[in-house]
Amino acid sequence: MEIVSNSKEMQDLALRWREEGRKIVLVPTMGFFHQGHLSLMEHGRTLGDRLVVSLFVNPAQFGPTEDLQRYPRDLDRDAALAREKGVDVLFTPTPEQMYPEGYQTYVEVEKLSQGLCGASRPGHFRGVATVVLKLFNLVQPHAAIFGEKDYQQLMVIRRLTADLNLPIGIVGCPIVREPDGLAMSSRNTYLSPEERAAALSLSYALKGAQKLAAAGEKSGEKILELVRKIIPRVPHTRIDYLALVHPETLEEVETLQGEARLALAVWVGDTRLIDNASIPEARYTCCV
Ligand code: AMP
Repeated sequence: MEIVSNSKEMQDLALRWREEGRKIVLVPTMGFFHQGHLSLMEHGRTLGDRLVVSLFVNPAQFGPTEDLQRYPRDLDRDAALAREKGVDVLFTPTPEQMYPEGYQTYVEVEKLSQGLCGASRPGHFRGVATVVLKLFNLVQPHAAIFGEKDYQQLMVIRRLTADLNLPIGIVGCPIVREPDGLAMSSRNTYLSPEERAAALSLSYALKGAQKLAAAGEKSGEKILELVRKIIPRVPHTRIDYLALVHPETLEEVETLQGEARLALAVWVGDTRLIDNASIPEARYTCCV
């Protein structure tokens, strides 16, 4: 495995692969790998013959009061894990290379970026869409893989790709959870033992909502009410947002007809965690 930190070098390599007829797959990440990231790499390995994982903690998607500085980083460990997964290139550009002096171009996916995390984190998806488009230009992938853990992000990238006619397949992969249900996240490392226990309330509440829907409840408000009851009972928690939305448009759903997504963000101590689930529970999930 090669570690490439220079953007021009990455793009030259990708263009050479393209000329050779290679199929390139990209997994964009911010590093500090866990099994969720590794599952995307495993799937990526099966989709092409050159697998690039980008590792870039993107300043443009963090707000001024957010955790950019303290975001966990461990390049040596990440490189060893990526190597084990058969990654060809770990692309680690610097902020100075991605946003050099004078940088002023941003892309915005308007409607999909407004609700949910977009409402709590103004400018977040503008930063995400911009960096992903730049990564696409640098890595020239035929396919790019994203986790459903960041469900709104996946929808924003699908829209960006369709709207800008990018010839790239966007693949979504299911959420990987700890054995007790907590969705894996690099930010879980911020949690104290008590907060780690409290963080279980997210997946527990989602499961409760799935059960209620499976029992025939169609009212969006009733389903949200259940979650609103479960989470605040747990110490250290505060709901940031909670919404039942259409799985593609992300518009609020009042009455269940077919599948919807229940998405939530919860503060656990000083850590903001997100999770989501299909309502009712999808019969099976695979990468699509
Ligand atoms: P991040 O490094 O947090 O920006 O995540 C990089 C990619 O991994 C994104 O597409 C995330 O949605 C995905 N990801 C993060 N956590 C998980 C998880 N628990 N299960 C599946 N995918 C995940």
